[in-house]
Amino acid sequence: MSEFHEAIIIGGGPAGLTAGIYLMRAGIDAVLVEKMVVGGTPMNYEHVENYPGFPEGISSKELMHRMVEQARRFGLVMKEFVEVDNVACENGRFTVRAGNEIFESLGVIVSIGTVSVKMGVPGEAEFVGRGVSYCAICDGAFFKNLDVAIIGGGDAAIQEGLSLANIVRKVYVIHRRDTLRAQKIIQDRAFKNERIEFLWNKVPVAVEGKEQVESLLIEDTKTRERSSIKVDGVFVYVGARPNTDFLGDLVVRDEAGFVVTNEDLATKTAGLYIAGDTRRKSLRQITTAVGDGALAAVSLEHYILEKR
Ligand SMILES: Cc1cc2nc3c(=O)[nH]c(=O)nc-3n(C[C@H](O)[C@H](O)[C@H](O)COP(=O)(O)OP(=O)(O)OC[C@H]3O[C@@H](n4cnc5c(N)ncnc54)[C@H](O)[C@@H]3O)c2cc1C
Repeated sequence: MSEFHEAIIIGGGPAGLTAGIYLMRAGIDAVLVEKMVVGGTPMNYEHVENYPGFPEGISSKELMHRMVEQARRFGLVMKEFVEVDNVACENGRFTVRAGNEIFESLGVIVSIGTVSVKMGVPGEAEFVGRGVSYCAICDGAFFKNLDVAIIGGGDAAIQEGLSLANIVRKVYVIHRRDTLRAQKIIQDRAFKNERIEFLWNKVPVAVEGKEQVESLLIEDTKTRERSSIKVDGVFVYVGARPNTDFLGDLVVRDEAGFVVTNEDLATKTAGLYIAGDTRRKSLRQITTAVGDGALAAVSLEHYILEKR
């Protein structure tokens, strides 16, 4: 048995929740499905200080709870622990499958964010959950007064390095270049933090240990010299890519796997829109995700009104 709604939103982060708010307020019958709990990636870190409207910053969980509440207030049904594994479109009608659950709709908004890119070095997969982590807020507390390495030099890496520095004894930032990509304000804080040490022009080569992570083997990108640093944890922030395999050839992707849309966030399949970090764009933030959610919803609303 399948369930019909005019619109289905896949993914309950800032983009999906905003799309839900806009669709409900437009009188469209929409449902949101989320593979975990609603809230998206900001549920995995601590604080947001660049989202307008909160001069003192806001806890990222609190911000997401507020978005969820707002969506609920307008009647959006949010189904949690529903992971979409296939989307098909025939004669203008979408079939969205999540295990045994089947949804049908006139239109779909995909806002599934991204997943962490792996380092791809020996020991990484073996030590996941035993010292290797992709989420400081989830696992940071296990490393109280211990030493950890952060791999990466972007916003996520440095922001998470700063959070970890409040808990651990020492944070080594391993970065393959000699400058960071992170925003200047975050860089300045990290440079001033005595618990953070930068190891420039270095790449991870292997995660080593017996039961738990005990050290990280790194290589200098210029001299090729290898050295080992004693760490109890390795936090990986080397990038993120969307996992849109379930969309098959309904969309066009760029070389990195991000979905290409037009300015209305439409894809090559009529009625299918992409919002948030999943699509090709130059800035992946909460502000741009909510903007995308609003735009995709209005585009889909117009599409549905024509089809009704
Ligand atoms: C460590 C870190 C710190 C950050 N700090 C900031 C910051 O300070 N300020 C800022 O503006 N941005 C920050 N960002 C970026 C920001 O979190 C993202 O740009 C934003 O969350 C993107 O929103 P989204 O809705 O596109 O995707 P997400 O928030 O990633 O939400 C996607 C949702 O889709 C769900 N999903 C995935 N696949 C499926 C599926 N198959 N079926 C159903 N559901 C699925 C996921 O579980 C998730 O809940 C940070 C990111 C990281 C990693």
